[in-house]
Amino acid sequence: MNYYSTNKQSPTVGLHEAVVKGLASDKGLYMLERIPVLPSSFFEEISGMDFREMSYEVASALFGDDVEPSVLKKIIYDALCFDTPLVKVRDAVYSLELFHGPTLAFKDVGARFMARLLGYFVKKEGLEQVNVLVATSGDTGSAVANGFLGVKGIHVYVLYPKGKVSAIQECQFTTLGRNITALEIDGTFDDCQRMVKAAFMDGELNEKMRLTSANSINVARFLPQAFYYFNAYAQLRRLGIRENIVVCVPSGNFGNLTAGLIAREMGLPVKRFIAANNRNDVFFHYLSTGVYSPKPSVQTLANAMDVGDPSNFARILDLYGHSHRTVTEIISGFACLDEMIRDTVASCYRETGYLLDPHGACGYRALKELMHADETGVFLETAHPAKFKDTIESIIGQTVEIPPKLQEFTKGKKQTVALGKNLKQWLMVNGVIS
Ligand SMILES: *Cc1c(COP(=O)(O)O)cnc(C)c1O
Repeated sequence: MNYYSTNKQSPTVGLHEAVVKGLASDKGLYMLERIPVLPSSFFEEISGMDFREMSYEVASALFGDDVEPSVLKKIIYDALCFDTPLVKVRDAVYSLELFHGPTLAFKDVGARFMARLLGYFVKKEGLEQVNVLVATSGDTGSAVANGFLGVKGIHVYVLYPKGKVSAIQECQFTTLGRNITALEIDGTFDDCQRMVKAAFMDGELNEKMRLTSANSINVARFLPQAFYYFNAYAQLRRLGIRENIVVCVPSGNFGNLTAGLIAREMGLPVKRFIAANNRNDVFFHYLSTGVYSPKPSVQTLANAMDVGDPSNFARILDLYGHSHRTVTEIISGFACLDEMIRDTVASCYRETGYLLDPHGACGYRALKELMHADETGVFLETAHPAKFKDTIESIIGQTVEIPPKLQEFTKGKKQTVALGKNLKQWLMVNGVIS
């Protein structure tokens, strides 16, 4: 399978190059040249398969030309060591819980898959060490750091804004050591992201060390996110539900939604999608007006969705031939303000007993507002509510238990390097060797 750049100013590449480079040299995103369609027999048998079995089938269609079957199978079976259960919240509304991975974030799926695939390519191609740079406002850093921990030939640098990630999130990537270095930046998340982008574009630095990204711009991070949409469908089929399915995705950089759209192109019978935004609503604005105007992000309760210029927008446009009409036929949008998030967490808990996190709350609310009577709705619950303990407790007035898996992280010793804003200078001196 070949990947082209959405800017169309650089040559198509194979999977290995797309994963190792992350971003194309014309700064475009790599996108599948052709989307494979799965046979109808697969969908008929899907309800008898577990998460790993079906993911392996999907992965074979996507990556089978580039990775040997036995290797791909091992990657899938190692990476997906948890399930994504579908939980009924109320009549015709289901939560697809994506937070049962090691860091309790849906990003575990993509991060764990990417770590293993990149590790395989580094070994197979005999590459010198690959360095993963990742900017985080919390969740990405922990999923990526834990996903890559101990993978040979790869070193990870996590850049995070000092004092702006939660204590639990900080523990999840600062206590690991080994091939993970946490860099504390004196600035905001946007500063971290700018520094990472500048590093990718710096010729001198790239000559010294091989750099790649583990954000959803990387195909190995975002494509595996298609797997759990199939798992949602398999579980609905077991309940006898096969059509009029609408899936609602709480979105920031839109990697998750794009993976769902690709699953649909592969034949997954999802009728339509809803993109839930928080107050950072540039995509919602695009859907209503046809005009895309990126803005600086604003801080909200659903902070992993605080993105003012979603990086996967270009992929969505390409998928539908840049037709605003086609995009709006398949995707509707909603913007959930902080007050609505609070109100939704409280009312859902009171009425159904189901505890949402602030991101899932955007999804649940959007679904409630936009679902039709003949549809079955699934929203993606992207994080465990305990990760936002203070917010959730202030809304429901009850204590939220921290799961043992999360508690474990708080026991380690914090190790960080305090950087001002000069990433390049620091990497030139300290980078490269694990
Ligand atoms: C990353 C994240 C999102 C947004 O996902 P995108 O793929 O960037 O749209 C939503 N919720 C949580 C909890 C996240 O960590």
